[in-house]
Amino acid sequence: MNFKFPVEALSRLETPLYYYDMDILNNTLDTVKNEADKYGFKVHYAVKANANERILKAIQQRGFGADCVSGFEVQQAVDCGFDASGIVFAGVGKTDKEINLGLDNNIACFNVESIPELEVIDELAGKKGKVAKVALRINPNVNANTHHYITTGLEENKFGINIWDLENVLAVLKSLKNVHLEGIHFHIGSQITDLTSFRDLCLKVNELQKWMISHNILPKVVNVGGGLGVDYHNPDNSIPDFASYFKVFADLIELQPEQELHFELGRSLVAQSGALISRVIYIKKGVNVQFAIIDAGMNDLIRPALYQAYHKIENLSSTMAEEKYDVVGPICESSDCFGKAVTLPQTLRGHLMAVRTAGAYGEVMANRYNLRTLPIPYYSDTL
Ligand SMILES: *Cc1c(COP(=O)(O)O)cnc(C)c1O
Repeated sequence: MNFKFPVEALSRLETPLYYYDMDILNNTLDTVKNEADKYGFKVHYAVKANANERILKAIQQRGFGADCVSGFEVQQAVDCGFDASGIVFAGVGKTDKEINLGLDNNIACFNVESIPELEVIDELAGKKGKVAKVALRINPNVNANTHHYITTGLEENKFGINIWDLENVLAVLKSLKNVHLEGIHFHIGSQITDLTSFRDLCLKVNELQKWMISHNILPKVVNVGGGLGVDYHNPDNSIPDFASYFKVFADLIELQPEQELHFELGRSLVAQSGALISRVIYIKKGVNVQFAIIDAGMNDLIRPALYQAYHKIENLSSTMAEEKYDVVGPICESSDCFGKAVTLPQTLRGHLMAVRTAGAYGEVMANRYNLRTLPIPYYSDTL
């Protein structure tokens, strides 16, 4: 299924804007649901990838849970119709206020990343006369082979509980009355395209499960996080191979009969359904280079500036002979660049440009740097 740009309709709108192809989104969600259901796996969508209300509602309607990393995300998930029993709350720095919000909503699970956090959740739950369900986020020391800013599962990262500290954590857990060990949780990083990293994770999980079982501990849930990557170079063919992804876990993870396997996919559910639409303001000639200066900037889509991320750029208005352009934004930072030496049909002032595969970590990371306004989202089914 190809992404469709209603160029006529888009050309009447003020730019920059985010445009979502809801057919692509729904198609992706259906694929994920079918593949996960084959094995009885449960998927919680990682809200931080795109917290837009229309997108969240589409995901909720298809029966996914929500994985949140702030109190506001928990609130947004509740507001968009997610059942509390499908909401999990992760993050290294949950404040008392955020924990109380989770407790008041009776969310399914807190993914806990340290002993001090465990103690605070126990204390706050106790004050409310509740028992909080918790999963221990364990740092499996598996390399995700992705950009170092989005690697999270190594011992040097701030995330999770290191395996050598687990015995301590379990002892503390035993002494606390208002928390119940519901699961173990892992998340090794993002934009992972080599399934070998997930195979390594499965083996680590099995090892750990054996150790836990030998200590008479068998939590109900094994949560292997998210991180499945998408193909930014082929935006029309970038729906990941969910069948192979889930099969790795089905083949390798050794679960006990009463255990469930959970996932927290973010990017792979939404990335390919969004594009950042922009207009060319000027073509500027430089030394051995020409710049296409567009009206979208790093405040609208920060991934290229933040992670040196690649996004395919297309000119929606031109079919002329190809030339090379550095595609840059209007912001006063040299990193405000969407692509260098990009091959495009001859590009002129006023042309509409699409920065593809921008549905994840795009709109949700937009900010008002330079006091620019936030890009407005539009959807294929209501445009
Ligand atoms: C970001 C995050 C995810 C989702 O990662 P994707 O790469 O978008 O799939 C899942 N779990 C946790 C704990 C996260 O922080």
